[in-house]
Amino acid sequence: MTEPTPKTLLGPGPSNVHPRVYASMSGPVLSHMDPDFWAIMDETVQLLREVFQTGNGLTLPISGTGSAGMEAALYNSLEPGDTIIVGVAGFFASRIAEIAARCDANVVKVEAEWGKVVTPPAIDEALAANPGAKVVALVHCETSTGVLQPLEEIGQLARTCGAMFLVDSVASLGGQRLPVDELGIDICYSGSQKSLSCPPGLAPITMSPRAVEAMKSRNSPSRSWYLDLSMLDEYWISARKYHHTAPASMIYALRESLRILLEEGLENSFARHQLNADALRAGVDALGLSIVADNAARSNTVNGVHMPEGVDANAVRMALLNDYNIETGGGLGPFAGKVVRVGLMGYSSQETNVLLVLSALGRVLNGLGYEVAASVGVGAASRVYAEAS
Ligand code: PLP
Repeated sequence: MTEPTPKTLLGPGPSNVHPRVYASMSGPVLSHMDPDFWAIMDETVQLLREVFQTGNGLTLPISGTGSAGMEAALYNSLEPGDTIIVGVAGFFASRIAEIAARCDANVVKVEAEWGKVVTPPAIDEALAANPGAKVVALVHCETSTGVLQPLEEIGQLARTCGAMFLVDSVASLGGQRLPVDELGIDICYSGSQKSLSCPPGLAPITMSPRAVEAMKSRNSPSRSWYLDLSMLDEYWISARKYHHTAPASMIYALRESLRILLEEGLENSFARHQLNADALRAGVDALGLSIVADNAARSNTVNGVHMPEGVDANAVRMALLNDYNIETGGGLGPFAGKVVRVGLMGYSSQETNVLLVLSALGRVLNGLGYEVAASVGVGAASRVYAEAS
């Protein structure tokens, strides 16, 4: 039997789980209809509202990974024939478009090159060409490229045209500023396993009153029974009506992780992610490597790092894993075999991890024939930390 051993998880997710979160999971499993469990549910929902920075009543964790959050967002907001405009500049935005097509929606893709952002004029043009579009969807941090998509202007454009604004925050919630109400986001979902320092298995989601109204006035129910948010609302928030057996241990984990995040403070967490990403990028630069995303659009949670010409990114990744016990991510799409993705999210976003991965990366690259002083990455990152202290 293969037993899992601890590893340093610096890929695009999952991240390392906070020890307090692991401990919380060993609490006794309660019935999903026990009032004691309901109190834990209420606390979890309230903490989630604080982390999403929203007053939305319909805020809850879906039983399922980030993709379940994506499906819930789309299945509940779209009916056959509705138009959705999706900004696509990477793998996960393409998944949104694919799921929307399965809702029999009219899917309008506004495509940008992988590694770039989707621009407001491009969305504006699509809105003008598709009057009555119901939803505009964006991925906040496109994990496949490490690009942080600006949201404000596109959100305003959507609202001006009466469209709902849907945002994927699977790789950003907790690590990047995302004030849902301030940005006018109508539907936002995430995943437990990245900047929330939890295991995979829950997908927090929040829906504005406007989106709830639209959901209530549907002509037909959501095609997904399991992910029907009006029924989940009846269990989680409004009526305690049985829907499915809640995964109690995961809910304890999420509640603890949200508590840890809010004890640190959202702004402090964002600053920590910024500092560690800055240090990583300084080290990458010193090693003579470059980051996929443009300077102005870099996520602090995931960074795509171009490997030197002639060096196979998969060989780098495997050496990091086998020789240094560090998990990173491979490139997707046009970056396959060329890019290594380094995630610094939640409990994994720590100075020690930045220094470890830079040191290991320098040595691995040396071993694969790339000539660079292996320690220069660590030196550059150390200077960033020294300046910040
Ligand atoms: N959206 C984004 C931006 C992601 O990074 C991911 C996973 O990495 C998903 C959606 C899908 O989440 P999951 O793999 O948890 O289903």
